[in-house]
Amino acid sequence: MFSDSVKRFYADHLIPNMQRFDTDGMVDRDFWKKAGEIGIMGGSVPEEYEGSGGSYGFDSIALYEQGKLGDGSWGYGIQSIVIHYLIKYGSCEQKSYWLPQLVSGEAIGALAMTEPGCGSDVQSIQTQAEKKGNHYLINGSKTFITNGGSADLIILTTKTEASKGAQGVSLILVDTRELEGFRRGPRMNKLGQRGNDTAELFFDNVMVPRTNLLGEEEGQGFYQLMKQLPWERLLIGITALGTIDFALEQTISYVQERKAFGKRLMDLQNTRFKLAEAKTQAELLRTFVNDCIQRIENNELDAATASMVKYWGSETQNQIINECLQLHGGYGYMLDYPIARLYADSRVQMIYGGSNEIMKELIARSIDN
Ligand SMILES: Cc1cc2nc3c(=O)[nH]c(=O)nc-3n(C[C@H](O)[C@H](O)[C@H](O)COP(=O)(O)OP(=O)(O)OC[C@H]3O[C@@H](n4cnc5c(N)ncnc54)[C@H](O)[C@@H]3O)c2cc1C
Repeated sequence: MFSDSVKRFYADHLIPNMQRFDTDGMVDRDFWKKAGEIGIMGGSVPEEYEGSGGSYGFDSIALYEQGKLGDGSWGYGIQSIVIHYLIKYGSCEQKSYWLPQLVSGEAIGALAMTEPGCGSDVQSIQTQAEKKGNHYLINGSKTFITNGGSADLIILTTKTEASKGAQGVSLILVDTRELEGFRRGPRMNKLGQRGNDTAELFFDNVMVPRTNLLGEEEGQGFYQLMKQLPWERLLIGITALGTIDFALEQTISYVQERKAFGKRLMDLQNTRFKLAEAKTQAELLRTFVNDCIQRIENNELDAATASMVKYWGSETQNQIINECLQLHGGYGYMLDYPIARLYADSRVQMIYGGSNEIMKELIARSIDN
C-alpha cells in the first residue's frame, strides 16, 4: 500500500517537475510539503513524533521508487539519514522539535561532514565548536552538502577538542533559520543531480546553544557517524538498484523499436547478451540489497557489508548505465533521452557516502583484522 501511494505521488508530483527542478537547481518547498502530506518521510519515525511507526523498509521503498523513475535530485535520502540520527541520538526535546517538522517537509535536513580541505579523512576536519558559556561558537566551512542550499537543520560535524583526532569530533544540530554568521555559497555547477541544491556552507562566529549537541556528551561524533553510515551506504545501494531497473526498462523499449540492418536492435546478439548480463547483475544486486535491508531491520548491518553494497551497487549501476547508453547510440548522448541524465546522475554514487576506494579499505580491514 505504501509503495502504491509513493508511486502515485511521484507520478503526479515528481515526474512532471523533474525538468523544472534541474533548471532551478533545487526542489521547491512545495514539493517537500506535499511529500510530507502523504507521509513519505515519516515511514520509520515513531508515531509520537508524527511518523507512521514503521522502520527502514518504508524509507527503502521510497528511495527505490525514486530511483526507478530516474530522479537523482530530490534529497530525500539525506532527509532520511538526518531523521535516523535524531531517532537514535536525539534528546526528547530535540526529537519533539525536529522530527515532526522533518516528517511534514516543513524542515529540510542536511548532514555536513565534508570540508574544502578534507572529505575522505573525516577525522581531520577543521570546523571548530568552542564552548562559550551556554553556547558553542562555531567557525569553519563545509562543501558539497546535499540539500545545503535550503536546509533548515544541519547536522554539523565539528571539533569540540581541536587537539584530539576522532575523539574530538562532535555532532551539533544547527537551526539555520535566522542564524547570524551563517552563509550559503552560490549554486554548485554539477555534472549531474542538477536539481539538488548541493552547497558550500560558511560558519563565521555562529552561536548555537550547548543543548544542540547530539548525544549525551562531546567527542561521540565519530562513533555516531560510524554507527549511522551503514544506512547511508545501503541507501546508495537501494538507489543504484532502482536506477538500474529504470535504465533497463528504458533501454529494452528503445532496442525493441530501433532498427539497424533491417532488424530490431533487440535481435542483434550483442544487444541480447549485454541485456542478459545486465539483468543478471540487477537480480544479484536485488538479492544483496534485500538481504541488507533485512539486516538493518534486525540491527545487524555491519560496516563491511554496508560498504560492499555501496561500492558494488554503485559500480554495477555505472557499468550497466554505460552499456545502456551505448545501446542507445548517439541518442543516448542527448539529454532528451533519460539514459543521458542517468549517466550523469549516477557517477557521483561512486564518490559520495565515502568513496568506493574507502569502501574497499573498510572491507579489507574486516578481512585483515
Ligand atoms: C554531489 C555531491 C553530494 C555530496 N553530498 C554530501 C553531503 O551531503 N554531506 C557531506 O558531508 N559530503 C557530501 N559530499 C562529499 C563526498 O562525500 C566527498 O566528495 C567524498 O567523501 C570524497 O571526498 P573528497 O571529495 O574530499 O575526495 P578526497 O578525499 O580528496 O579523495 C580523492 C580521491 O582519493 C581517493 N582516496 C582518498 N583517501 C584514500 C585512501 N585512504 N585510500 C585510497 N584512496 C583514497 C578517493 O577515493 C578519491 O578517489 C558530496 C559530494 C558530491 C559530489
